[in-house]
Amino acid sequence: MTINIVCDDEPVLDKFGRRVSLCSGISRLLKKRKSVQDNVEEIYDRVRALLGMSDVHDKDLKIRVYKDKPSLHEAFFNIYYRPTNLRAWYIFEYHTIYVSADDLNAGMLAHEMAHAIVDSYFGVKPPIESSEILARYVDTHLYD
Ligand SMILES: [Zn+2]
Repeated sequence: MTINIVCDDEPVLDKFGRRVSLCSGISRLLKKRKSVQDNVEEIYDRVRALLGMSDVHDKDLKIRVYKDKPSLHEAFFNIYYRPTNLRAWYIFEYHTIYVSADDLNAGMLAHEMAHAIVDSYFGVKPPIESSEILARYVDTHLYD
């Protein structure tokens, strides 16, 4: 299973990487800076572990990173033909997470990853309410 980060703008990708780093300010200064891919995979592993689903047979996951809120919301409109106020979302059919580098934190990414993992784990997609409970548990306990 591979996580593909889709972003064609280097500074945007860089900002995304900083926003989803699990390191605190001080440890980020002391440690060698990790790559964006490493930061993302660290969160993914943490989410799987929190859910007790480390053995999930997950399809390759795509993360589409947009520059800012307007371009993120434009992407939503192009898919659903209606406006949105969502800050991030996951689409099961595309196995893709949509985020904006301007308005994101590790908890938000972990939340969407939890949806992706939960949907893959049980042969059938669980009810949205159950999936939301699990995803909220993950973003609340990410740093425990
Ligand atoms: Zn959710």
